[in-house]
Amino acid sequence: MADTKMLSSLRQIIQEVNTAPSLQKALDLIVHKVRNAMGTEVCSVYMLDSTSGDYVFAATEGLNPELLGKVSLSINEGLIGQVAAREEPLNLDRAEKHPAYKYFPEIGEESFNSFLGAPIIHQRKVLGVLTVQQRETRRFDESEEAFLVTMSAQLAGVIAHAEATGALEQVSSSANPVRRPARFKGVPGAPGIAMGEAIVVSSPADLNTVPDRVAVDIDAELEFFWSSLAQVRIDIEQLGTTLAGQLRPEERALFDVYLQMLDDKALGGEISDKIRQGSWAQGAVRSVILEHVYTFERMEDSYLRERAADVRDLGRRVLEYLQQSNAGPRDYPENSILIGEELTASMLGEVPTEKLVGLVSIKGSSNSHVAIMARALGIPTVMGAVDIPLQRMEKAALVVDGYNGEIHSNPSDELSEYFANIIAEEQQLSLELESLRDLPCETLDKHSLPLHVNTGLMSDVARSLDRGAQGVGLYRTEVPFLLRDRFPTEEEQRQIYREQLEAFEPMEVTMRTLDIGGDKSLPYFPIEEENPFLGWRGIRVTLDHPEIFLSQVRAMLKASEGLNNIRIMLPMVTHLSEIDEAQGLIKRAYTELIDDGYDLKLPPVGVMVEVPAAVYQARAFARKVDFLSVGSNDLTQYLLAVDRNNTRVAGLYHSYHPSVLQALEAIADAANIEGKPVTICGELAGEPGAAILLLAMGYDALSMNAASIPKVKQAIRSVTSEQAEEMLGRVMQLEDAEMVYGYMQSKLDKLGISQYLSPGALIAAGDL
Ligand code: PEP
Ligand code: MG
Repeated sequence: MADTKMLSSLRQIIQEVNTAPSLQKALDLIVHKVRNAMGTEVCSVYMLDSTSGDYVFAATEGLNPELLGKVSLSINEGLIGQVAAREEPLNLDRAEKHPAYKYFPEIGEESFNSFLGAPIIHQRKVLGVLTVQQRETRRFDESEEAFLVTMSAQLAGVIAHAEATGALEQVSSSANPVRRPARFKGVPGAPGIAMGEAIVVSSPADLNTVPDRVAVDIDAELEFFWSSLAQVRIDIEQLGTTLAGQLRPEERALFDVYLQMLDDKALGGEISDKIRQGSWAQGAVRSVILEHVYTFERMEDSYLRERAADVRDLGRRVLEYLQQSNAGPRDYPENSILIGEELTASMLGEVPTEKLVGLVSIKGSSNSHVAIMARALGIPTVMGAVDIPLQRMEKAALVVDGYNGEIHSNPSDELSEYFANIIAEEQQLSLELESLRDLPCETLDKHSLPLHVNTGLMSDVARSLDRGAQGVGLYRTEVPFLLRDRFPTEEEQRQIYREQLEAFEPMEVTMRTLDIGGDKSLPYFPIEEENPFLGWRGIRVTLDHPEIFLSQVRAMLKASEGLNNIRIMLPMVTHLSEIDEAQGLIKRAYTELIDDGYDLKLPPVGVMVEVPAAVYQARAFARKVDFLSVGSNDLTQYLLAVDRNNTRVAGLYHSYHPSVLQALEAIADAANIEGKPVTICGELAGEPGAAILLLAMGYDALSMNAASIPKVKQAIRSVTSEQAEEMLGRVMQLEDAEMVYGYMQSKLDKLGISQYLSPGALIAAGDL
C-alpha cells in the first residue's frame, strides 16, 4: 500500500469509527474498513471480557458471523491469546503450523493460511486483538504490519471510550444486561466523597449530551415533539424566504429537502415511534438523529457524507425547542449528583442546596468556575471526566471521589460500604474537630505553625473563619475577574478587596495579583496559545499590561486604607527583573495615592515560587522581597513535566515525588538563610502528612482550603518537632513517591491519626 493512501485510509477510518453510536457498530465498521483498506479476505476483532478475562470473538468480515460472542480464548490460548499475552503483533505465513494454533470447527478459518494479529492496547491494558487473514501462504509485508499496528494503537482510545459506555455488554460472553460497576478518571475539582444518584444536565442544543430517560407521560412527550417540530418548520420556511434572493436554485432546494426530512413519514415518524415505545422526546430525537448522522457519515459519496451535518443541524433545532418546553422545575432526589458536559455555575443554582451532594463535569479543570464554586461550597467534585458516557448515566448510582478525581458508577456493595464508611468517618471527624477551632495549631512541644486559608469568593470567608483560619495565605484575585463579563473597574475591585480585608482584619490577607493564562482564560480576554502553561501567564501578562496591573494594585492599596492588613504576592515569577519591574509599579501606585491624600502603608510584597527556575534562585528572590510562598500545584507540574489538568498523565502527578520534596526543602532553606518568612499555598499544604513534613522543613505557615484546616491542625497537634524532623529525615532518603506515601501513612497510623484522609490513603480504593 502506498504511504499516502495508507495515511488517508487510516484517518478516514478513525474519523468514522469515532462517530459510531455503539461499540458493536464501531467494531463492525473497523473490520469492514480495515479489510477493504488492506485488501485481505478476513478481518476480525476479539475483545476482552473483563469478567471472564477471555478474548471474545466480537466482529468479523470473512469468518462465520454465527459464532460471534460464542468463541473465546483465554490469555496465551491460541494465536489470539499469544498476541494478547506478548503484547506484540504476530505475523505468520502458515497459521496452523504455529504450536499455539487452536482450531475452532465452523468458524471457517481452515482455508486461510496467513495470519497477522495486533494487540489493541489502551493505557497499558490489552483491550483486544485485531487480526487479518488471507488464503495465500505468505507473510504480510512490513508496511502491512505497520498499518495494522498503527490502526490498533489509534483505535484503542476510541474503543476504550465506547467500552466505557457499557456497550461491551453486547459482546460479552456472559450476555448479562445488568449495569456493571465502572470507574472513570478525571481530575480533582473539590475535595471530599459524595454518594448519590446521577442527574444529567444536558447542554443547550447539544444532542450528544441528552440522556436516556423513560417518558413519564407519552402523550405529553408526543405533544412536545410535534409542537417543537412545527416551530422548526416555521423557522426553516422563514429562513428560506429571507435568503431566497441570495441563494442559487440548488441551494434553495436544500430547504425543501430539510422540510421533507421533518415529515411524519421521515425522521418525524421515526422519532414519534420511539416516543410511543416509551422514550422521552429529547432522547428519541437524539437517538434517531445520531443514527442517521452515522449512516450518512459512512457513505462513500462525499456529497451524501456532508448531509450528515444537515441532519445534525435539524436535530439541534428541534432539541432547542424541546428543551424550552421541558424547562420546568425538576424533582431532584435527596442525594443528587449533577453531571454534565460542561457544568456552569448557574446550573448549580437550579438544584436546592440541601439536595446537591456532588458534581461531575466532562470538560473543564480544577480552575473552572464551577470547581471554584464547588470548593467554596464544599461540594465534592470531579472535573475532566472525559470517558463518562453521559447519555447513559441518568439515575446511575455514583460515588464521586473528589480527592483522587475519580467516579465509580454502580459501585459494588463492597465499594459502597468502603466509601460510606469514609463519609461517616469524615462527618464524625468534623464534629470532633469543631472543638479544635479555638485551639492553637502547635506541636506537642509548643512549636506553633499558623494555618492560613486560600480564598477567592466572599462565600469562602465565613467557612474559613468558622474553621479557625489565622489569615489568608492566598486570595486568588482572578476569581472575581472570572465571574464577570468584562474587567472589573478599579472601584469595583476596591470594594471586593475591601470586603476580604475587613472580614479577616486584623489578620493578614495575602492578595495575589491577577494570575491568568495557562488554563485560566477570562471569557472577555481570551488567550489562545499552543502551549499555554509555558506561555503568557501570571506576571508575564500583567507586566505587559501595566494599566491592568496598576489599576489592580491601586484598588488593593485603597482597599487597605486604615486596615493595613494586606500583603501583595506576585505569581509565576521566573526572572529577577520581573520582581524589580513589579515593585517599581507598586511603588509608583503607592506614591500616586499618597500624593492624592490617601493614608497608606506600603504593604509587604512577596513572590510565589512555582517554577523550577525560582527554586534555584530562591535566595536571590528572597533578598529582593518580604516573603516567599510556594505554589506547589504549579511547582509539581513544572518539575515533573506533568500537566496538572490532563487525566491521561494524572497518575504521574505526585507532590510526594522526591524531587518535589527536595525542591520544597531547598526553598525553605534559602528563605531561612536570608531571614525571610516562607509559606506554602498549594494543595499539598492541606494534607496532614505533608503538613508535618513542611513543618520540619522550616515553613512558617501553611495555606489551604478551609475544609482541610481541622485535619491539618489535629495532625500538627499530635507530633513533637523532633518526631516531625525524624520523619522528614527518613522521607528524604526514600527514592520513590509511592514509598513516601506508604511511609507517611504508616507513621500517621502509629500516631493514631490514620483516619485523617489524604489522597494517598485513598489509592487503595481503586483495587476494590
Ligand atoms: C499553585 O500553583 O500551587 C497555586 C497555589 O496557585 P494556583 O493553584 O492558583 O495556580
Ligand atoms: Mg500557581
